[in-house]
Amino acid sequence: MFDAIRGAAASVAVMVGVSVGCMANAGSGDGPSRDHGYAVKKSEAQWKAALSEQAYRVLRQGGTERAFTGELWDHHGDGVYVCGGCGQPLFDSEAKFDSGTGWPSFYRPIRADAVETHRDTTLGMVRTEVRCSRCGGHQGHVFKDGPPPTGLRYCINSAALDFRSKTSTSTRPARPSPGR
Ligand SMILES: [Zn+2]
Repeated sequence: MFDAIRGAAASVAVMVGVSVGCMANAGSGDGPSRDHGYAVKKSEAQWKAALSEQAYRVLRQGGTERAFTGELWDHHGDGVYVCGGCGQPLFDSEAKFDSGTGWPSFYRPIRADAVETHRDTTLGMVRTEVRCSRCGGHQGHVFKDGPPPTGLRYCINSAALDFRSKTSTSTRPARPSPGR
């Protein structure tokens, strides 16, 4: 009888250990609320369902992808880069330049009101955060060491963007050829 109780206690301990572990993982990532009355509003659960894990981490939690790992830092094409959260056009490929940073870089947004900026003092730095003006999705930061004509460098995460080719009217569907 003693053994039976001890056995039950042990298995309860194991179950508690497992569930605590899961909760620790799930609970750590609640980012700051980014709801400022944007035109496109979704609950965090809806964003999570709509976005890839990486896009959610960047757009909704202000994360930064590792340099040289995104799909668009070395992307060259004639088109428009749109917000990965809501599809609003944010940057024209004409304003993209090779910054050498490993992130897609632009010297100006497609329209002044396509993005909005916020003071960001995280990570012990004072930076200017760039967000999509329609959904509030975090895009990256803007720095004052860019090329002419603006002298600005919009340093943007690939994961926060989608590319829409200007010549996408059936000339080249964005589908990579299957592996050899
Ligand atoms: Zn957006």
